[in-house]
Amino acid sequence: MSDDPVQSTPWWLELGAQACDFCQRTFHYEAIYHCVHCDRPICPFCMMEIRESREVTCSECHEEDT
Ligand SMILES: [Zn+2]
Ligand SMILES: [Zn+2]
Repeated sequence: MSDDPVQSTPWWLELGAQACDFCQRTFHYEAIYHCVHCDRPICPFCMMEIRESREVTCSECHEEDT
């Protein structure tokens, strides 16, 4: 009988990948976005999307933009 651990961690929350510059949490590199302005890594929770251009920015650049 194998005792498989339950996969409760989503693939994009796995450790050992890219860290978000804002919340300091670590995410799978494929889940990390990069701000089009400052090129800092942002996670899906911290990123802001500009609706018109569909570009992804961090919260700091987003504030400067508006
Ligand atoms: Zn974050
Ligand atoms: Zn930025």
